[in-house]
Amino acid sequence: MALSSDDQKRISEALEARVSNWDCSLCGESDWTLADGIVAIVLQDTPGTVALGGRTLANFALTCSNCGNTLLLNGIVLGLRDIVEKEKKLEEEPGKPEER
Ligand SMILES: [Zn+2]
Repeated sequence: MALSSDDQKRISEALEARVSNWDCSLCGESDWTLADGIVAIVLQDTPGTVALGGRTLANFALTCSNCGNTLLLNGIVLGLRDIVEKEKKLEEEPGKPEER
């Protein structure tokens, strides 16, 4: 699910309010690209299994435009629960048109 331009703006503002050093830890450049969607990290209740529709951590991904180093930032910690829950709700209702 793509992020709306308003969501992308709010994510950028949340990051700019919290991040003081934008230098990539691998290459030292500071040109990052926000992925156009949510990255879900699956929480496993039983090791070795993956439950479809199970619990996840919802993250925004920033990728270094120079070396590809990718950072995952938790959307809840950033105070953007409404964005990650909207994305999750839309994913659960694939036939529902986008509300943009
Ligand atoms: Zn880099």
